[in-house]
Amino acid sequence: MKFHIPVKVFDEKDCVKKHSGELATFGKKALIVTGRNSARVNGSLDDVIEALKNENVEYLLFSDVEENPSVETVFAAAEKYRTECIDFVIGIGGGSPLDAAKAIALALKHPETDLAYLYDKERDPSALPVVCVPTTCGTGSEVTGVSVLTRHDKKTKISMVHKVYPDLALVDGKYLESAPQSLIVNTSVDALAHLYESVLNAKVNDYVRMTACAGLKCWAKTKDVLSGKRERSEEDNALLMRSSLFAGMSIAQSGTSLPHALSYALTYDLKMPHGKAVGCFLPGFLAAAPAEQRDELLKLAGFNDMDDFSAFISELFKDIEVPEEELHRAGELVSANRAKMESASFFVDDTVLDNILQSRGRFHNHGDGSMVDC
Ligand code: NAP
Ligand code: FE
Repeated sequence: MKFHIPVKVFDEKDCVKKHSGELATFGKKALIVTGRNSARVNGSLDDVIEALKNENVEYLLFSDVEENPSVETVFAAAEKYRTECIDFVIGIGGGSPLDAAKAIALALKHPETDLAYLYDKERDPSALPVVCVPTTCGTGSEVTGVSVLTRHDKKTKISMVHKVYPDLALVDGKYLESAPQSLIVNTSVDALAHLYESVLNAKVNDYVRMTACAGLKCWAKTKDVLSGKRERSEEDNALLMRSSLFAGMSIAQSGTSLPHALSYALTYDLKMPHGKAVGCFLPGFLAAAPAEQRDELLKLAGFNDMDDFSAFISELFKDIEVPEEELHRAGELVSANRAKMESASFFVDDTVLDNILQSRGRFHNHGDGSMVDC
């Protein structure tokens, strides 16, 4: 059995300021990588800049990472800063800037990096040191080596093959304070999917069960916030971040499975947020799992049974509609990918895959007889 998380994690309020000395250990000049706007609004960018100034570390700022970052964005950043003698990269934001930061750190270390390099296992995977400051509660990218990148040439998203683990993760729930409810919902459903997909996974082991179980228990405490039954507190923000972190630790070991694989086409074609797209297939995936194990996992996250879970997800995502042809494309992409078809801990053939695809929307009957298209 293997458990590998080479990331130093500080998970506490004001950890960026408190641990500024950690940043100085990576060098004298940092490249900060963010999305276009949110890091300026939620206070994370100011905190990082203040911490760097305290430690006399110079910095440059690349704030042009789009949602679902493309390989083109990675190369544009690497090209722009290649001659700047950058010592380390700090990603601030949701999974998009964090994933981009990892790929940029690789490309800055290896000037010859091109598309083939990102997807060639034989090439040197080392990168500049990476620090991550998450501001969403879904991807857990701050503790994984994964960098999911948009490939416009293939009209989908494909993770680069090299694992670039952050060296340091500074995790503070306060950056979620200003986040809209829709972002909290979408990203924490992503975290829940990571927890379930890592356990119902062919590569599961007892360490994954341990981190996933801890994550599901944290997640359960915030469930009523997602459904709008109560207001989000400071403690909830910390728990949302922590369940995402445990979920990241879990997928870092075993990877994700079918809901993630099926989601990528929806995100690419329909511009659907990642967590929402994954959430579409999560009830169907759980429904296909062995009943005893599934029911135990549902209880850990605070659900009574499969119906309760399906109703919860349908209620969160009742505005989604997925055209039949889109489901068909998502299914075809995954059906042709043997590794993905064999990623679950239970048997999946085209019939099971089709059930998962068709099940989205079939779960919850909304009283008026209409089925919600989730
Ligand atoms: P995201 O794409 O990073 O960000 C979504 C939106 O939220 C952006 O508009 C962003 O604004 C905004 N935002 C971020 N933090 C905010 C805050 N605190 N308050 C208000 N708005 C905020 O979202 P994400 O769901 O975290 O990341 C999704 C990406 O991560 C996908 O590409 C997915 O494939 C990938 N992913 C990676 C892993 C992994 O292990 N590496 C795992 C799962 C998913 P700005 O653009 O202005 O910042
Ligand atoms: Fe995800």
